[in-house]
Amino acid sequence: MSSNDKKSGHQLRRKFLKQVSLGIGAGITGLYHMPVFAQTAGSKKIRQNVKKLNIALVGLGSYSRGQLAPALQETKFCQLSGIVTGTPSKIPEWQRNYSITDENVYSYENFDEIARNDAIDIIYIVLPPGMHAEYTIRAAEAGKHVICEKPMATSVEDCQRMIDACKKNNVMLSIGYRLHYEPYNRHIMEIGQQEKFGPVKKIDASNSFRLSSTGVWRLDKQLAGGGPLMDMGIYCVQGANYTMGESPVSVKARFEENTRPAMFTEVEEAISWTIEYDNGAIATCDTNYRERTSKLSGAAERGHWELNPAYSYGGISGSTSEGQLSFPQVNQQALQMDAFAQNVLNKEASIVPGEMGKEDIRILMAIYEAANSGAEVRL
Ligand code: NAD
Repeated sequence: MSSNDKKSGHQLRRKFLKQVSLGIGAGITGLYHMPVFAQTAGSKKIRQNVKKLNIALVGLGSYSRGQLAPALQETKFCQLSGIVTGTPSKIPEWQRNYSITDENVYSYENFDEIARNDAIDIIYIVLPPGMHAEYTIRAAEAGKHVICEKPMATSVEDCQRMIDACKKNNVMLSIGYRLHYEPYNRHIMEIGQQEKFGPVKKIDASNSFRLSSTGVWRLDKQLAGGGPLMDMGIYCVQGANYTMGESPVSVKARFEENTRPAMFTEVEEAISWTIEYDNGAIATCDTNYRERTSKLSGAAERGHWELNPAYSYGGISGSTSEGQLSFPQVNQQALQMDAFAQNVLNKEASIVPGEMGKEDIRILMAIYEAANSGAEVRL
């Protein structure tokens, strides 16, 4: 490949990511300025006439219970209609809380029968990452549109199989990247991608929490694919990429000290890395399972910006060199699911498609390779 070919491939990728993250061509550019959640009399009126798509949640753990199911009580274009669970004791409460009928309750064993259920349009995979590929592919083969939680899968190959299965079955696939629908993060995309303070020179990103429980999938390499990098660090990679509007050219990384070796036997407890972009901008990132952090900051020639917390479900706060930012706090999950429902209804691409999920896994795998080898990895 000539350097010109490489360059034009890079430019295409940059253009694709820019369009994807700013919603150009996807018809939801205005979502950031005018959240779907603005509850006006007008929006209530529209709601009565909208056919809501029906979502089934697969995996009824803490994210489904604490965030997605409540958010689905606020959505305008989709609603919670089905559940898929391996724990029968959870079923009565979910049926009671969300009026879920018996025909829309599945186990992991009879899940494929959902293909015959016209009352379900979208399947949302909320299982440990090592199970995402199998269930996304089974959902696609059942002819259902799919939202898959982050990280998309535990290998690039699995991501490709998921994309292929959705294409083959003519269904849409998107990743649970809720921050693309969050006003503060969307503002950072604008600052970075539209070079409001000049070309971005530097980014800092950190996202961590303290994991105290043992015997959980987050400590299991097979189920988690890795440690905090896969679970939390992915937000830093996303944050850096959507600030830049492009994918990096190389990464360097190192594992940090393992302070609880009895607990972290399969996955890292902490890791830090740098990402370099085509224009020479460097993103310095870290993640761990030791302490809470949530930061996305950056600088360019004529200004700087910081969100902290940057990645939480609410309470996002930030400023730029021009002053404090003040956007509404939104229900990110509701906006994300409504946007996908609209994508399905309007047959238009998601701004957070499987291809974006796969690109992030490619970068995360390169970060592990760099940490293991000690050498820079070109992407
Ligand atoms: P969780 O442990 O609370 O729930 C996992 C669910 O999977 C449980 O219902 C569990 O019963 C089920 N499960 C089925 N087979 C399993 C197995 N072999 N081992 C363990 N659990 C099994 O986890 P969670 O925090 O709800 O995370 C689920 C997914 O959602 C993950 O991909 C995670 O990264 C993602 N997540 C995303 C966000 C976000 O903000 N987008 C937040 C939290 C979690």
